[in-house]
Amino acid sequence: MKLNVKNIRYLTPEDWRVLTATEMGSRNHEVVPTSLISSISGSGIGVHKSISNLAKIGLIAKVKNAKYDGYRLTYGGLDYLALHTHTKGHTVFSVGNQIGVGKESDIFVCASEEGRQLVLKIHRLGRISFRTVKANRDYLRNRQGGSWMYMSRLAAIKEYEFMKALRREGFPVPEPVGQNRHTVIMGLIDAFPMRTISKVGDPATLYSELLDFIVRFAQHGLIHGDFNEFNILIEEKFEGDERVQLIPTIIDFPQMVSIDHANAEYYFDRDVACIKRFFERRFGFTSDEPGPFFKDAIKKVVKRLDVEVEASGFSKKMAKELDVYMKEHGIDGDAGGAEEDHGDNDEDDFENEVLDGEEEEAGGVSLLDGADTEGVPTAEEPSLEKQ
Ligand code: ADP
Ligand code: MG
Repeated sequence: MKLNVKNIRYLTPEDWRVLTATEMGSRNHEVVPTSLISSISGSGIGVHKSISNLAKIGLIAKVKNAKYDGYRLTYGGLDYLALHTHTKGHTVFSVGNQIGVGKESDIFVCASEEGRQLVLKIHRLGRISFRTVKANRDYLRNRQGGSWMYMSRLAAIKEYEFMKALRREGFPVPEPVGQNRHTVIMGLIDAFPMRTISKVGDPATLYSELLDFIVRFAQHGLIHGDFNEFNILIEEKFEGDERVQLIPTIIDFPQMVSIDHANAEYYFDRDVACIKRFFERRFGFTSDEPGPFFKDAIKKVVKRLDVEVEASGFSKKMAKELDVYMKEHGIDGDAGGAEEDHGDNDEDDFENEVLDGEEEEAGGVSLLDGADTEGVPTAEEPSLEKQ
């Protein structure tokens, strides 16, 4: 989905209040009545001007329903609120090119105030996917107001909490920098997905390193659940013209499961099978050794990150809700798709397509423009009560 951040600088304090009010109202109204937006935002005569301004740039959308007219927050509006909070919190200063588009997320390069390059991952659960058209049709029919917002937020919280826990344990994952609403900010890894690597000098070393991660995850109570060539970034280190080292970084955690999960062994085996299949097809490499096996891996559990994360920002209840939602909507990571497709086809290319940037300003479009943000209320993240 397109993210046009240019207008963010031109929103007035009143626009922000009205946008925030629409978000708050959508917690218990699928269509937020105009009068409610007015009263929550405490705005006076300017409220209608702000509403029409926000609707014009697509941050809210007018909905006529049988009983009354009102507005709903769009994904664009939610994006703006999240970015506004990241900017206020000095996490993000500017947003640049889109570098990835997945089935359930959009990935952008962004930068901190100090010019450090970061990644903005925007979770978009509920996006129409041709692979799950049927599930989506059912979803749209049954849709409760704002559930896509809530679920996308759960996915972001989950990803952030797991990234923090894994990073603390020394796993090679991006540095978690911030999280708000349906977005995660993390360190940019200067590397490409393993899928883009056509040759390795010594596949055996990389292969055993990757399988070792699967085992170490399990020994920390976790299964990645989508451990494949798209979610393993490989940094190539050169000495002169010679490539001397391949350094993997693992990304994409919304589908991680605990080793206590009812289908834990299935997910573990699937992660292993993904790596085996890729190494066979791409590098013609097959290992002599069988396994690794789930039963052996969990004999030596050293730490329970699954339990740790549960006690932090991502509760068991949230995990369950997200799990049920993902199952109902056929979201099963890239691995599920890879099993269906078996091979290099356009769908796979689309998922990880590197997009040509549409933003022309070097270093991205800055989100702040001093004067315009004077007195703007900070868009606090609303509480996580389900609508
Ligand atoms: P999805 O859930 O949509 O698969 P991912 O987290 O796997 O999202 O990201 C999609 C793509 O974006 C990756 O395959 C990778 O090319 C790129 N990407 C994601 N995170 C980073 C990062 N921290 N650094 C560099 N590239 C990244
Ligand atoms: Mg991915």
